[in-house]
Amino acid sequence: MRRLRLVAARATGAPDCLIASPSEHTGRVSAYEEFDVVVIGAGPAGSAAAIRAARAGLRVVVFERGRPGRDKVCGDGLTPRAVAALDELGIDLGDAHRIDGLRMIANRTTRELDWPANGRFPSHGAVWTRRELDRHLAEAAEKAGADVRWECTAVPVFDGDRVVGVEVGDRLVRSGLTVLATGAPGAAARLVGAERVAGEPFGLAIRTYAETPRHAERHIEACLTIRSSDGTAVPGYGWMFPVGDGTVNIGVGALSTMKGFKSLNLHALLADYRALVEGPWSLGPDLERPRAWRLPMSTRRRAGPGWVAIGDAAGLVNPMNGEGIDYGLESGMVAIDAFVADPASAPATYDRVIGERFDEFLRTGRRFSFLIGHPLLLRSGLRLAVGTQGIARLTLAVMGNLVDADTPGAAGRTLRVADRALAAADPLLRRTRASG
Ligand SMILES: Cc1cc2nc3c(=O)[nH]c(=O)nc-3n(C[C@H](O)[C@H](O)[C@H](O)COP(=O)(O)OP(=O)(O)OC[C@H]3O[C@@H](n4cnc5c(N)ncnc54)[C@H](O)[C@@H]3O)c2cc1C
Repeated sequence: MRRLRLVAARATGAPDCLIASPSEHTGRVSAYEEFDVVVIGAGPAGSAAAIRAARAGLRVVVFERGRPGRDKVCGDGLTPRAVAALDELGIDLGDAHRIDGLRMIANRTTRELDWPANGRFPSHGAVWTRRELDRHLAEAAEKAGADVRWECTAVPVFDGDRVVGVEVGDRLVRSGLTVLATGAPGAAARLVGAERVAGEPFGLAIRTYAETPRHAERHIEACLTIRSSDGTAVPGYGWMFPVGDGTVNIGVGALSTMKGFKSLNLHALLADYRALVEGPWSLGPDLERPRAWRLPMSTRRRAGPGWVAIGDAAGLVNPMNGEGIDYGLESGMVAIDAFVADPASAPATYDRVIGERFDEFLRTGRRFSFLIGHPLLLRSGLRLAVGTQGIARLTLAVMGNLVDADTPGAAGRTLRVADRALAAADPLLRRTRASG
């Protein structure tokens, strides 16, 4: 009998486990299972992959270290593009709070615009608490036939350089494809090399909830001019995302390209922003302790033999608006479609399709974040961004993720021109980056 040596890749350096055959094993492994697809993580990305896989008739298991009903620190905002992805997955958004547009505030200028009907995406977005969105997605995965297991931490297992499944406690689970949907890179993603690219930007954001009589408003609000307590202009924005249940999700996010990012106090930034909006929104006290989390915006690798990383684990967050839910949903579906088409080439196909769909746009976003890391450029950029209704429409398209390099018309043309200009300026912007 051929002996197969599997190395349980553990950050802790725990002993290798030796597997002789599915039924015969030595070492730490006491049980063995086999699936077509193993998904690690039951956030939007992991559940989207599981739904797609189960509906394609694949045997799929999801391991989630959290409990059922787990929460994720998030703004809860769904762009029209995310709504389109949820529609594709057959998720009923009846319980979500419908959003018709965006109110942008820069200093004393306010512009309120509706999401445009551009034919590609619906003309509305939504706010849906992550507890509810993620619960609906995980339930849809289970309903489709996925085996969702809670409170299970999974670790990729290698045979040579190939990921052949995961280890969960003393259980080995083999799979044709292991999908890392583990969120902002942690131990599991690091093992396969899905790490942030040093020198590339990332974001940090913080949020809480408060009661407000304006909870049922149909526009989300973004304040583009926020400042740290020492008066530095922060590349990022403060948001008020009405949830429709008596509360609003209030938060702020900042990009790592700003001067003094390392010493930025997010709690203080949120408190300052709250002081600005408290009156206009008649805010009640915070309903929970504000919590912060990372927004990963790059990765060294997002696919390799036997595995793919999707969503945040693949650094798929839009630097221009901090949106990651849509990218998680879309990348989850792309990964499974590639596996269904041809299991052997799935990681390479996934890498290529994601590259074609997102890389150029996200690279523009990263370059843009270096640009707005310069306080002077940020201030003049913001004046321009909301200066006229026409340019505000473009800002809306960017903030709403309605435009990419393939978009026809003025918005797409502007983005392509901006990308060329940013590409030319990129080396200088990086050299002179505000945070040094
Ligand atoms: C404050 C804040 C506000 C944001 N606002 C928005 C917004 O309004 N709209 C938007 O689109 N995006 C927003 N984002 C980004 C968005 O939250 C993420 O992009 C999104 O959650 C990514 O989904 P995911 O499925 O990739 O990862 P996650 O939602 O992070 O899910 C990963 C899951 O994997 C599990 N896991 C990790 N490791 C293991 C393991 N080894 N074994 C088992 N389970 C594991 C985790 O417990 C977790 O449940 C925001 C982010 C922050 C921090």
